[in-house]
Amino acid sequence: MQDIDTIYIDGAFVTPHGEERYDLFNPATEQVIGRVRLADAQDADLAIAAAKRAFPAFSRTSKRERIDMLKRMHAAVLAREDELFEAITEEYGAPVSRGRWMAKHASAVLLEAAKVLQDFAFTRRAGTADVVMQPLGVAGLITPWNSDAGFICGKLAAALAAGCTAVIKPSEMSAMQTRVVTEALHEAGLPPGVFNIVTGRGDTVGARISAHPDVAKLSFTGSTAVGKTILRSAADTLKRVTLELGGKSPAIVLDDADFDVVVPLVIQAGFMNSGQACIAGTRILVPQHRLDEFEARISEEVSRTQAGDPRDPQTVVGPMVSQKQWERVQRYIRLGIDEGARLIAGGAGRPEGVGAGWFVRPTVFSGVSNDMTIAREEIFGPVLSIITYRDTDEAIAIANDTPYGLQAYVFSADPARASEVAARIDAGRVLVNTLAHEPAAPFGGFKQSGIGREYGAYGLEAFLEPKAVLGARRD
Ligand code: NAD
Repeated sequence: MQDIDTIYIDGAFVTPHGEERYDLFNPATEQVIGRVRLADAQDADLAIAAAKRAFPAFSRTSKRERIDMLKRMHAAVLAREDELFEAITEEYGAPVSRGRWMAKHASAVLLEAAKVLQDFAFTRRAGTADVVMQPLGVAGLITPWNSDAGFICGKLAAALAAGCTAVIKPSEMSAMQTRVVTEALHEAGLPPGVFNIVTGRGDTVGARISAHPDVAKLSFTGSTAVGKTILRSAADTLKRVTLELGGKSPAIVLDDADFDVVVPLVIQAGFMNSGQACIAGTRILVPQHRLDEFEARISEEVSRTQAGDPRDPQTVVGPMVSQKQWERVQRYIRLGIDEGARLIAGGAGRPEGVGAGWFVRPTVFSGVSNDMTIAREEIFGPVLSIITYRDTDEAIAIANDTPYGLQAYVFSADPARASEVAARIDAGRVLVNTLAHEPAAPFGGFKQSGIGREYGAYGLEAFLEPKAVLGARRD
């Protein structure tokens, strides 16, 4: 049982003013494994004040100094990788391979930001003007539970690389990961107040950060509904806002695709992070004339997909993070059945032989039309929908017929053909015959999947404001 009763303000671990205790669960056993004392709005104010005090000096640090800090932070988080993996498995239930990737990702993003900073030009020329890229000020960084440590480190890396100071509001459900990351970052020895970490509820601490006049920038990852609330709160003081929100990504299987190659990729794209991924490929677009063949292949593949104990290396789909999330997924499975979709794998309830834990059955529906609820709304669980199309134009039209636009996948035996389709998709990222991540490339959504981009130079620019200086040069 872990008792987490401090937050991090002005370079020190302090007892929060907030007194609410919040239980942390192991989703694989439903047992309470820890308790966190939550910060409140007053704690958020103190954190913002510390970041505001630290900003003038920090914003004037050199590129070299900030690269050194990022490298120290990288080394410190890397040294805690095993501990972080344990926390991710315990409180989140990520299967081994995913948990390992997440634990590594948390340190990798810090090093990546150091590399981007190395090559980044803070001063540029535009006509006769000098353009200086100036850090925005105090950044409020709000993260979700589905990759808490990675988002804390990724957002903080970009903010600090730009010269902003930060107040981080991690998910209240991820306090164990947050504790490991905070201890590591503390060891990196940054000046007090440069970053502050206040775990608390979204509607108190999160809301305070998103409305506070001393916060200049917000970077939020989470649901589209909360993203819209944050954008409204930010409007009064015209904060710069980056929103990374939900998705309903299409996986377009072109008619020339080799199913032996593509079906395992489609399954991985759909069930990644136990289906709790904003980028999961949940709408599988299949040519009508090859549907029977595709259904047979995918049913066979899903029957081999192990759901259960996240510590078993064979497990692909671990538990849902919470009972609420488990119930949400069950509701969507029932909705799919009620709306007339045809179950070809999985279904409601727990996987066979599993008694406790928030486990769901990896589920695939066929006969789905793109206007069904399961094709329109983000489920955030391992529930996939097969939708058929007659020709490529129709496939593209269905792919783009969604309020979201975060990511898309195109699979074809002919990469040139796949690239032509990719060019016509409205999404922030299109993956052609691959599931690989590219940390230097921008990440973010079209339409209601968000505003702005993270990662690489685009992610760094999101914490900067261009300032044009005219007449300063005589040349
Ligand atoms: P959520 O929106 O419920 O919560 C995200 C964060 O916002 C949490 O820290 C929460 O406490 C906080 N929050 C809640 N209400 C708030 C308010 N009124 N003001 C300020 N902050 C508030 O999301 P979640 O359930 O933690 O995560 C799942 C969602 O995140 C999914 O919709 C998923 O698609 C999305 N997501 C998006 C990306 C991306 O990069 N686009 C990545 C991961 C997850």
